Amino acid sequence: MKLFTKNILAAFAILFVLAMTWSLFSSQPDEPKEISLSELVSGINSGQVREIVISGDDLNIVLIDGTKQITKKESEAPLSETLINYGVAKEQFEKVAISVTGPTGFMFWLGALLPFLLPLLLIGLFFWIAARNVQRANLQAFTFGQSKARVILPDNKKEQVTFKDVAGVKEAKDELIEIVQFLKSPSKFIAIGARIPKGVLLMGAPGTGKTLLARAVAGEAGVPFFYLSASEFVEMFVGVGASRVRDLFKMAKKSSPAIIFIDEIDAIGRHRGAGLGGGHDEREQTLNQILVELDGFEPHEAVIVMAATNRPDVLDPALLRPGRFDRRVVLDLPDINEREQILKIHARGKPFSEDVNLRRVAERTPGFSGADLQNLVNESAILVARHDRKNITMADLFSSIEKVLLGPERKSHILSEAEKKITAYHEAGHALVAAVLPEVDPVHKVTIISRGRAGGYTLKLPSEDRRLFSKSHFLNELAVALGGYASEKFIFNELTTGASNDLRNATDIARSMVTRFGMSDKIGPVAFGSREEYIFLGKEFSSHEKDYSESIAALVDGEVSGFMKRALKQALEILKKHKDVLEAIAQKLIKEETIERENFNKLLKSFGLKTKQVPA
Ligand code: ADP
Ligand code: MG
Ligand code: ZN
Repeated sequence: MKLFTKNILAAFAILFVLAMTWSLFSSQPDEPKEISLSELVSGINSGQVREIVISGDDLNIVLIDGTKQITKKESEAPLSETLINYGVAKEQFEKVAISVTGPTGFMFWLGALLPFLLPLLLIGLFFWIAARNVQRANLQAFTFGQSKARVILPDNKKEQVTFKDVAGVKEAKDELIEIVQFLKSPSKFIAIGARIPKGVLLMGAPGTGKTLLARAVAGEAGVPFFYLSASEFVEMFVGVGASRVRDLFKMAKKSSPAIIFIDEIDAIGRHRGAGLGGGHDEREQTLNQILVELDGFEPHEAVIVMAATNRPDVLDPALLRPGRFDRRVVLDLPDINEREQILKIHARGKPFSEDVNLRRVAERTPGFSGADLQNLVNESAILVARHDRKNITMADLFSSIEKVLLGPERKSHILSEAEKKITAYHEAGHALVAAVLPEVDPVHKVTIISRGRAGGYTLKLPSEDRRLFSKSHFLNELAVALGGYASEKFIFNELTTGASNDLRNATDIARSMVTRFGMSDKIGPVAFGSREEYIFLGKEFSSHEKDYSESIAALVDGEVSGFMKRALKQALEILKKHKDVLEAIAQKLIKEETIERENFNKLLKSFGLKTKQVPA
């Protein structure tokens, strides 16, 4: 029925245009008379000319009695020069008002060309509308049982989202700009043989804006967005999952360039064999079909598959293989500045009273996701409407914070003031030790925004790909790992459970130094435990069995705790020596929650500490 009304509207629009043009051409009152330049000159000399309007080479002349005339001047010569050449009398010429309008003579050309162009335009318009309707009908025919597959077409301005609507997540946006550019002009990339990723996996906690960002990519690129949630998919179509996937990809290829978005892909992409049911269940067939489709893409097809998950750890490794979802984009929970921006986005068009300061709302909401913040603004609007008030006040916003916190959706951990302080000093401890010790990777980011079960984290990124690790590197790493623990002990003279994870990691490092790498002087060059290769330092450390005698075991334990104690001492010394820096980092963390590398280095420099370079 929507189609029908659209067609009626289009018909009216065409009629309207026709009527307008007809009236334009039929009722032109008095066409200005075309005269020659010498006629103009004699007109000026006899004082009959009131005004000349120059528009390009056209001269529109208005006589004293109001009659209009037109003529042309020589190209590229100024009017005065031309007229003087024709012998105009100077004192008469000065009485004429001269003005210049846009040189395009647009109206003139429009007037001249419209009669020819209009029929062409109308025919073009007709075909365009017809073609669009066919395309729509095609897309709409693609329905999933009761519900329609959600397709957002680029001309759907109401549903359109762009990067402007997504606050924060800067790194993610930077990654995705490339995809946007590819979708905008695929031929440019294909021509030089660039390999564009077929699959992009968005990872992040619930409500961090994964779905929103995927839509924004489509919006930025102006391509159709095929949206599909994996969980509904499995529920709804027992026995037809695979064929639906095939249809979806076929559809998208037809309207390429396009984006296919599979939300909550962990629902079908779980590690195969890990779930219940086993064997060839629906989920597995659906997943297989997605893999087949991904592998079958040709680069010229310009279809990008995006997927979102908050459980990247359970995904089937087959999905992550090169040529599939090999581009991964992480969305973090927003820090204080990002929360303020998100609040601003959702505050758009809502009536706030004068006293509202969104920064203060952001300060009180560490750990909130974008969705929580949206919910918060919405709750306060509801509150205002319920009480028949006009404006949203600060009190409304604050009471909504609690509502969102206590609401059923919130599961993540929120820091209290005291916890925030402890976490800040803890992370500042890690960061400072890492900055001072030479054999440690540069600090990339320090934050007290919790992620997973950690209160905060200090992210170090290696400046080069290392294959060999020295003993001094491990000793330094140990001190860094204990930096948080040391800081809590030093500042508060008290320990919290927040450091337990660090202790676990540190112990694993120390134990491996002793039992795998022969880095203990007392025990010497012996390797104990299974011979399994370690894939990723820190991950596999904890998994070796004991294959040595009790007396050696005691020796190992002694060495491990010796390494740990020395590392703790080293960390404490650094923190004591640079207490002012520790304070500064912690205070900045309390205020801003996240410190990026540049600001971290700036802070170090202001205390005269050396900074580490990260090669670009
Ligand atoms: P996810 O898919 O990661 O669970 P969504 O994209 O569905 O999260 O986010 C839910 C809502 O939260 C969005 O529709 C949007 O209103 C809001 N939101 C989340 N992140 C942001 C952000 N970075 N900027 C603006 N709004 C956001
Ligand atoms: Mg989502
Ligand atoms: Zn820690």
